[in-house]
Amino acid sequence: MLKIYNSLTRRVAHFEPISDEHIKLYVCGVTVYDYCHLGHARVFVAFDVVVRFLRAMGYQVTYVRNITDIDDKIIQRALQNQESCTALTERFIAEMRADSNALGIIPPDHEPKATESLPQIIAMIQTLLDKKVAYIGENGDVYYAVDQFPNYGKLSNRQLDAMQVGARVEANQNKTNPLDFVLWKQAKPNEPSWPSPWGAGRPGWHIECSAMATHWLGKHFDIHGGGADLLFPHHENEIAQSEAATGCCFVNTWMHVGFVQVNQQKMSKSLHNFFTVRDLLERHHPEAVRYFLVSSHYRSPLNYDEDSLTMAHHSLKRLYQTLSSVAGPLLDAPQECPYQAKFIEAMCNDFNTPDALAVLFELSHLINKTENSDEKRIYAASLKKIGGWLGLLQSTPQSFLQAGLTEGCTAETIENAIAERNLARQQKDWAKADAIRNELLAQGIILEDKNGLTTWQRQIKST
Ligand SMILES: [Zn+2]
Repeated sequence: MLKIYNSLTRRVAHFEPISDEHIKLYVCGVTVYDYCHLGHARVFVAFDVVVRFLRAMGYQVTYVRNITDIDDKIIQRALQNQESCTALTERFIAEMRADSNALGIIPPDHEPKATESLPQIIAMIQTLLDKKVAYIGENGDVYYAVDQFPNYGKLSNRQLDAMQVGARVEANQNKTNPLDFVLWKQAKPNEPSWPSPWGAGRPGWHIECSAMATHWLGKHFDIHGGGADLLFPHHENEIAQSEAATGCCFVNTWMHVGFVQVNQQKMSKSLHNFFTVRDLLERHHPEAVRYFLVSSHYRSPLNYDEDSLTMAHHSLKRLYQTLSSVAGPLLDAPQECPYQAKFIEAMCNDFNTPDALAVLFELSHLINKTENSDEKRIYAASLKKIGGWLGLLQSTPQSFLQAGLTEGCTAETIENAIAERNLARQQKDWAKADAIRNELLAQGIILEDKNGLTTWQRQIKST
């Protein structure tokens, strides 16, 4: 029985798909004007795990994640760079996909772009105008009238009256209520624009998600997710737009992924403690980054520091070493396995990945103490199978343990050095054998002699 924390009801509840076998999921994607940072990676990995696990449980999942490719920040950055918005966004879409691939993230089933969804966006704005929950301001922009939606504030648990008192007085005299938000902006000179019944312009940010989610998943679907920073106003506004337009419940379960902190401080550009996925992948194995991201529960704040990432790499290495110690090809994973059942129980408890990881270590411990080689191979197959539900342990142990060679130190040069050392050992030239071992160690290569064979792996860089 799957239980999920629903931000809308603020409690963990039994999850029941709208259609028995088919779960529909929408996640807010990235505004593509720069490299993805660790916060984006956390959201991507969290929902990647959700999708992998639900599919492993036999559900069909349709996963939609949008791309915001028109926005004030994009226009500003393109102007700074003296390039077109399309050139800028296409470049960062490619970078986002490269980061996602490196982190082993399964692509969403649909990845709609705002600029390719104008017909749906315009149609929804028109419906809101027809229903008189939207209006045209004196400047020609179209606004959503929050007063016209009785449930405004239900997701973020805020009362409209209290928000109005707190709202700062804006200079924008075009709005009836300062909390009203823009659905369609009139084009300014030299900005990208699209024709609409209200003149050439571009959509506001909130309406694109309502329109795209409804288009791809229907007006009522199962799960909507995103970073915790999107809960208000973005998701609140999505509910207001969609439910006013369709007249029915928009989403059953809202899931929000916690913030990333760096050395216990909020990660932000102004504090210069800002990490892009690209920065991290230069220093760390991508699977170690992924392991680090799933080692905290998705709703908890995640504290990033270099030591935690190095520790994550060491933990993952222990699991790969266990797999590496099993001789012969893995046997088929059994359908029923008490460790798998325990893993499922942890994941069914609001996707408790730290508890699920603990099960991987219990299984690893069992493999290491089991002597029967067939049993070892069956348990190892289980370990690999359930590890895969978190997107882990799918490389060969050898490629994981040897990854990250630098130029001038290739697998070939290492194998040659090992052969030379073996010869020295045969000739009982211990000094030379030790010297070769130490030379390799200085390059971050660790040798292990076992059962007459010498294997090597790369040392994890400590920070
Ligand atoms: Zn969104």
